[in-house]
Amino acid sequence: MEIKKRNFQIHADRMANMPRTNVKHGNFHHSAGNPMGTAAGINRWHIDGRGWAGIGYHFVIDAEGTIYQGRDLTKEGVHAGRPANGNSWAICLLGNFENYAPTDEQYAASQWLWDHLNKIKKITPEEHRDHMNTACPGKYFDLKEATKPLPKEPELFYRVVTGSFGEKENAERRVRELDKAGFQSFITTFKK
Ligand SMILES: [Zn+2]
Repeated sequence: MEIKKRNFQIHADRMANMPRTNVKHGNFHHSAGNPMGTAAGINRWHIDGRGWAGIGYHFVIDAEGTIYQGRDLTKEGVHAGRPANGNSWAICLLGNFENYAPTDEQYAASQWLWDHLNKIKKITPEEHRDHMNTACPGKYFDLKEATKPLPKEPELFYRVVTGSFGEKENAERRVRELDKAGFQSFITTFKK
């Protein structure tokens, strides 16, 4: 997965800086009350409707599981008041989770993003409603699912193969050659 670069204008110079050392949490939202169903639309609404310097969230995830960059990680968001704005990255999933659940694709993207952010800075999950009298991110939103750890990559061994032989003698000859060259080697079999 990847984060889609911003394709809209924000006024980063008017945003407060947020040093990484201040960041402790990731704060989840849904877009419910927002009439604009895209990251660019939310940005427009937050600038024109709210008078902010740009989109209030750091990330937006749509129903197809596409992750859009909002604010830079180095800037404070505008999403859950104080102290949350100054110590968290804001993640907004598009939809109204008072009425329905996020899609599987949205959860999968959220899990990837959560893993990605935690590689940058260890953070703990929060919701908008932890800080304010709001339903956000909605009763059908499952924070555990949204931040579920990704399956661990299997550990791999790297095997050097120098050839496969139809005749056993030819395989044995290769082993002798390799042994002579100082590479300890052995024969394994597999079915054709
Ligand atoms: Zn919210």
